Amino acid sequence: MTSDAPWDLAVVGGGIAGLAAAWRAHQLGWRVLVLEAGRVVGGKMRSEIKDGYLVEHGQWHLRPTDTALWQLISEVGLDDQVLAAPPSASRFVYRDRALRTRPNNLAEVLTGDSISSAAKLRLLAEPVIPGDAQPDDTVWSFGLRRLGEEATSYLLGPEVVDGFAGDVRQLGARDALGPLWQWEHDAGSLALGVLFGGQRRSESTLRRRRPGIYALRDGMGSLPKGLAAALPDQSVHCSAPVQAMQRLPDGRWRLRLNAHAAEGPAEFTALRVIVATPPRTASELLHELSPRAAAELADVHCVRLAVVHVGAPADAALPAHGIGVVFPPGAGLRTLALGLPSTCFAGRAPAGHSLYTGILGGALDPEAADLSDETLVSLVERAYGVAFSPERARPAAATFHSVVRWRDALPQFRVGHMDSMQLAQHSLSTDCLGLALAGNYLHGVGAAAAAASGMAAVEQLAGEPAPAKTNTADRERK
Ligand SMILES: Cc1cc2nc3c(=O)[nH]c(=O)nc-3n(C[C@H](O)[C@H](O)[C@H](O)COP(=O)(O)OP(=O)(O)OC[C@H]3O[C@@H](n4cnc5c(N)ncnc54)[C@H](O)[C@@H]3O)c2cc1C
Repeated sequence: MTSDAPWDLAVVGGGIAGLAAAWRAHQLGWRVLVLEAGRVVGGKMRSEIKDGYLVEHGQWHLRPTDTALWQLISEVGLDDQVLAAPPSASRFVYRDRALRTRPNNLAEVLTGDSISSAAKLRLLAEPVIPGDAQPDDTVWSFGLRRLGEEATSYLLGPEVVDGFAGDVRQLGARDALGPLWQWEHDAGSLALGVLFGGQRRSESTLRRRRPGIYALRDGMGSLPKGLAAALPDQSVHCSAPVQAMQRLPDGRWRLRLNAHAAEGPAEFTALRVIVATPPRTASELLHELSPRAAAELADVHCVRLAVVHVGAPADAALPAHGIGVVFPPGAGLRTLALGLPSTCFAGRAPAGHSLYTGILGGALDPEAADLSDETLVSLVERAYGVAFSPERARPAAATFHSVVRWRDALPQFRVGHMDSMQLAQHSLSTDCLGLALAGNYLHGVGAAAAAASGMAAVEQLAGEPAPAKTNTADRERK
């Protein structure tokens, strides 16, 4: 069955990038269609209630700097769902068999115990180390030069685990570290970079909300659900995996679903297309349309992750309010990080119980994501015990668990990543007029950057000439 009406925009993928694109296009007055392969929208931003626990498949909190997400939350009317974690909620790093509070600024680095006094002195020398930023710097080589080995391991390293579940020796400093590399490149040092611009930038993004973390009452999945609900009826089709795309002679696009699609039209036509899938699928869909773009996208390495939720009777050993712990490589625990959602936000666990979430897999230990549920839960229990109740062999026995596995969890911004993505976009602009990409592999790995990429894709297409709405047959009939 074919749906004949040409849509102004078809979006392939109903994660936060695709839905942000669809929402922005709807605001421009376009007729929008979202085709999502999964049974529900949201992609990695998905929440479920299981046995009274709130299970987040990916992101479980928001930061004040997630500008694009805050904008969407307001636009779809979810402001009254925003929860703020208590200001005392801290982030920890596990080091030398103890938890150390992760600092939020230089003053906290200098007064805290996350690095030694010698490492603090090395850090203070940063402004006098000559700038030598190179495009092929890894996070590790950049960190060694600017900050020293210890600060790289215990300050930068945990950020890289949080953002990418990545390997500091493979991620490119220019693409993975936000403004840090640019500050050295432009100003010669991080200290001068902060003085001449960085501070101003961060102040403007933080102005509206105080530092700390936030969440949505019913989970982060409320945002994609809210976006989908705010679109006109029939705009969003779930269980609708796109298998092929074709550019028709009159410039319109035809999208064909695969045989596993739910009942309904199997083909759609649209004037424009945004491909908002993970890069591997985008590469497959573009294979014939733009082989050069497809090749660049196929080269984006994404890590596998397991997200392991464990519920147990509330434990007095837990900090009253804690965001979570990162375990640097070498801790020998396999768990990369533990989140503590129920200590930050209400409604994450039944009364008298707590929920903690372990992340395993990533660039340095991909096989961990494929371990059995039982093994994963026991690894997460062990990490919890080591971090919070080292005097006991194990924490209180788990009464609940839930495991989510992601094959393409997070793209790795390896050296040269952004150059490759620019090449891909350039190839598309010549091979595929009327088609744009969106997703967390383009501008930044977080959900806010993914949403912003969706909005930017719409702006890009709005600036291009669109084919006429009537098709060739319609014109001949007139
Ligand atoms: C465990 C974990 C924790 C995270 N924590 C944070 C965090 O704390 N902060 C943060 O900012 N970010 C976090 N992220 C990252 C964030 O979740 C992602 O960057 C963001 O959700 C990606 O959105 P996206 O739309 O680009 O991709 P996705 O969410 O992957 O959406 C892509 C969509 O495309 C669909 N699709 C695929 N193929 C097809 C097809 N052929 N046809 C139709 N549809 C298709 C998929 O089903 C999916 O719904 C985390 C991610 C994970 C995995």
